[in-house]
Amino acid sequence: MIGEERYPHLFSPLDLGFTTIKNRAIMGSMHTGLEEAENGFERMAEYFAERARGGVGMIITGGISPNEEGGFGAKLATADEARQHRIVTDAVRAADPDVKICLQILHGGPLAFAEHAVAPSAVKSRISPTMPTALDEAGIEKQLSDFASCASRAKEAGYDGVEIIGSAGYLLSTFLVEKTNQRTDRWGGCYENRMRFPVEVVRRVREAVGEEFIVIFRIAAMDMLQGGMSWDEVVQLGKAIEEVGASIISTHFTWHESAVPTISTRVPRAAFARVTGRLSKELGIPTITSNRINMPDVAENVLAEGHADLVSMARPMLADSEFVKKAREGREDEINTCIACNQACLDHTFTGREVSCLVNPRACHETLLKYEPTTAPKRIAVVGAGPAGLGFATVAAQRGHTVTLFDSASEIGGQFNLAKRVPGKEEFYETLRYYARMIEVLNIDLQLNTRATATQLHDSNFDQIVIATGVEPRIPELEGIDHPMVINYIDAIMGHKPVGKKVAIMGAGGIGFDVAEVILHKGTSAALDINVFAREWGIDFERHPRGGVTGVEPVVEKADREVFLLQRKSTRIGRELGKTTGWTHRMALARRDVKMINGVDYQKIDDDGLHITIDGKSQLLEVDTVVVCAGQLPLRALYDELQGRHPNVSLVGGAYEAVELDAKQAINQSSYLAAAV
Ligand code: NAP
Ligand code: SF4
Repeated sequence: MIGEERYPHLFSPLDLGFTTIKNRAIMGSMHTGLEEAENGFERMAEYFAERARGGVGMIITGGISPNEEGGFGAKLATADEARQHRIVTDAVRAADPDVKICLQILHGGPLAFAEHAVAPSAVKSRISPTMPTALDEAGIEKQLSDFASCASRAKEAGYDGVEIIGSAGYLLSTFLVEKTNQRTDRWGGCYENRMRFPVEVVRRVREAVGEEFIVIFRIAAMDMLQGGMSWDEVVQLGKAIEEVGASIISTHFTWHESAVPTISTRVPRAAFARVTGRLSKELGIPTITSNRINMPDVAENVLAEGHADLVSMARPMLADSEFVKKAREGREDEINTCIACNQACLDHTFTGREVSCLVNPRACHETLLKYEPTTAPKRIAVVGAGPAGLGFATVAAQRGHTVTLFDSASEIGGQFNLAKRVPGKEEFYETLRYYARMIEVLNIDLQLNTRATATQLHDSNFDQIVIATGVEPRIPELEGIDHPMVINYIDAIMGHKPVGKKVAIMGAGGIGFDVAEVILHKGTSAALDINVFAREWGIDFERHPRGGVTGVEPVVEKADREVFLLQRKSTRIGRELGKTTGWTHRMALARRDVKMINGVDYQKIDDDGLHITIDGKSQLLEVDTVVVCAGQLPLRALYDELQGRHPNVSLVGGAYEAVELDAKQAINQSSYLAAAV
């Protein structure tokens, strides 16, 4: 196979002695919400089986608790629960008997949703509402025994192994750190004592499952906490875990509490692999690296440089279940790349919603959203090649319909063409590459620079017309809104009009934040340069102080501009941004001295600037540019014109509903429509 020549490391098997992993690509653990959903095991079975058919070497499930107190819902402790997991392991085995599947054992400790959450000490996490109960000796013994029996149940359920999560602020990691472990008995105090619990967990698990079972331990190789683990402590723990029988060490780079982005699209690809590399040199067992490894060449480079033995990709497997198969067949340009937006995956996980994927709405919905070949092929016109139009056109064509895709612009992408220009959102280029390639592969007739008219569409005898004409910026009614200093966000992001030195941004939604990032940007994007990233977020990869960050001051460069980011609501600015990424956007702008003002009443714009009132008090912002980022209005004139002229006209994306519309909804809605047409 061509891919095996191109990616020799990725496609070489890994011999663990008692078993072999067929390639180095692992589907990493991701809680999807299916664990607790109705028919969740059946849905999980298909979700994992599809990835097994897609060529991955080993799958690690979402986190499952060993007991009630450690949980977020799902647990594995009883024979009945083990029987349910059989549905998953049987499906994966049927899909490909060579693919390994391991259960992740996740004991949430102080982060668990359980009423009686437990921890080494009664220290509440800043991100959890629950004060955990400090474990007594009997409680510790119970946790150890529950870990061991959960692993035994996993074996009984047909798993090839378990991964024990020892990072992220969950139970095991809270034993390691002084701030969360204030015990004075043999489970706390000196580091040897603080290590005792995680090491004992692995020892008991190995004892329970015997030699021929994969035991992976996930370690926080750089926990990104001020005062977190030192490098020596990481190495000491890794060696002790190896000693008591782990098969593989998997590296993780965060606690959920840490103030450094480690997985979002702002993070350079494979940013943390070299930390794994340093740990690999200290250990005698294989290692797994992860985080922002989203294309086969990135994975291959990490392996070729010897940073790790295996590469874990969780979100990329949501985005494209055939990632590995496509790489193997030399079709990597057909991979639907994970853009690390978190919008449909982790943002959903952390707000209690079922997970999916912005670029692939089928993820975790395999049994509900099916792209079956059509038995009645149609000629379909799609007007608008933005996210909604592209989503519809590709799914409809894949199902066997003949699709013509019109756009008045000279390139596909619509609003994606704005997003890709925002520093830190360069991954959108990959989505555009994917769609451009799928247009070729699926023989979609692409008509760019073509403003399709109602008459032309009507006369062409299409069986169905899909209007995905998108949105236009909303321009609020305000005295002076037509002043020359006022520009819209498209002109600001595309650089079509000059932006001055003192700027007011009207509207603090996702686009207002994007505009601020664009106009304050200076130098190379941190997402493209690991040194810039490390400087901006205060990480010292070389010296590895405690947590990688202790005592390191972030240093940001910014364009010479003063920026005000304004909204009328009195709520916190940026509150509506993604749960897992919003804080990074707010922090990035705060570090660039953006003045964020809420509760604003706009009065007028004139030569002096923007006049506003706050709490009834008048203020003048002496700005030379006002950028309007006040949301969008739907563009549906063509749809209205076609009413009564064509029997099958559908509306999708922003043209259907502009309020709160984003690419996630646009692609989701259009994919469901295309699956049914
Ligand atoms: P948006 O999120 O709806 O924000 C619009 C902003 O304009 C709000 O701050 C709103 O706040 C203000 N506004 C609304 N009507 C106004 C009026 N008449 N006069 C003055 N201000 C007004 O829209 P967006 O920022 O254009 O984003 C569009 C969509 O793309 C959203 O769904 C967004 O989530 C998505 N997006 C997401 C990201 C991301 O990173 N996840 C990035 C870009 C865009 P007030 O009414 O309080 O002033
Ligand atoms: Fe990746 Fe975004 Fe899809 Fe999550 S939603 S898997 S981050 S593309």
